[in-house]
Amino acid sequence: MSHPHPHRVAIVGAGHVGATAAYALLLSGIAPEIVLIDVDTRRAEGEAMDLAHAVPFSEPVRIWAGSYEDVEGAAVVVLTAGANQQPGETRLELLGRNAAILREIIPQVVARAPDAILLMTNNPVDVLTWATLTTSAFPPQRVIGSGTILDTARFRSLLSQHFGVDARSVHAHIISEHGDTEVAAWSIATIGGMPLEDFQAASGRVLDDSSRQAIVEQTRRAAYEIIARKGATYYAVAAGIVRIIQAIIRDESTVLTVSSRVSGSYGLEDVCLSLPCIVNRWGVARLLAPPLTKGEVSALHHSATVLKAAQSTLQ
Ligand code: NAD
Repeated sequence: MSHPHPHRVAIVGAGHVGATAAYALLLSGIAPEIVLIDVDTRRAEGEAMDLAHAVPFSEPVRIWAGSYEDVEGAAVVVLTAGANQQPGETRLELLGRNAAILREIIPQVVARAPDAILLMTNNPVDVLTWATLTTSAFPPQRVIGSGTILDTARFRSLLSQHFGVDARSVHAHIISEHGDTEVAAWSIATIGGMPLEDFQAASGRVLDDSSRQAIVEQTRRAAYEIIARKGATYYAVAAGIVRIIQAIIRDESTVLTVSSRVSGSYGLEDVCLSLPCIVNRWGVARLLAPPLTKGEVSALHHSATVLKAAQSTLQ
C-alpha cells in the first residue's frame, strides 16, 4: 500500500463535525494537507477560507475546498456528511437518510483512493461503518468508525471529576454501540493500575451503585443533553477524530475504542461495534477482547443484536 500524498486527509462533509475536525487537525499539525468536500460547495469554500487564515498562527498546512478528484492519494478519508440528530431523535433514526448519502459518496471515494483508510463518523456510526465495508469492499481494518471513542472520553471525564484525578490517568472504556445500548466496561476500568474498587479505598472517594448509574446515564445521555441546549455536538468528536488520524499517520499502535467489524470475539459475528483496538498505519491492526463479566458480555450481545437488526434493514 502506498500513498502519493501520505499525509493528505480528506474530509467529506464540511458541517459542524467536519469543519471542527479540520480546525483541530490544522492546529495539531499532524496533516500538512487537508481538503474539505461538501455538496454545499459554498459552505466548504467558506470554511476552507476561514481555516486557511488560522495557518499563520499554527502550522504550515495546505487547506482547501475541493472535489472528489482531490481524494486521490489521501491516507485518511473522514466521512461526516449527512443529517445529524434533532432534539430527542435517536442515532438509529438517521439510518435511512445517511445510508442513502453514503451510497452516493463511497463509490466516488473508493475509485480515487483505493488504499485509503475510511474513518466513519456519520450516525448511526456503527451501522454505517458496516454498510461502508460492504459498499467499498475494503478490508475490515481499513474501515473504522469513530464509535465509542467519544463515549469513552465522556466516561473518563466523568470518572475523572468523581475521583479528582486527571482524565488521562483513567483507563476505562465504553464499548459496543455508539448509542443507546452502549456498555460501560466497569470490570476493566483502572486508575493508576488499580481496579476502581481498590482506587476508592486509596482515594477515600466512594463509587457506590447510584454514582455508577449516574455516570453511565450521563455518558449515555450526553449527546441528547448537548443537542437540547446548542443543537449539535462537535468539539469532543472532532478531538476524537484527530486522535484516530494521529494514531494512523504516526503509526502509533495506540489502543483506542473504535468501531470495526467484529468476527469471533465474544462469539459475535459480522457486526460493527466498538472494542478496544490497536490502531496504526494499517487502520485497526487488531481488536482486543479483554475479559468481561457475564453481565457485561450479555449487555454486549444485546447491543450487537440491536445493531444487527439495523444492519439487516440495509440488505
Ligand atoms: P451538519 O448538518 O452540520 O453537516 C453535515 C454536512 O454534510 C453539511 O455541510 C451538508 O451539506 C453535507 N452533506 C450532506 N449531504 C452530502 C453529500 N451527499 N455529499 C457531501 N456532503 C453532504 O451535521 P454535523 O453536525 O456535522 O453532523 C454530521 C454527522 O456526524 C451526523 O450524522 C451526526 O449525527 C454525526 N455525528 C457523529 C458523532 C460521533 O461521535 N460519531 C458526533 C456528532 C455528530
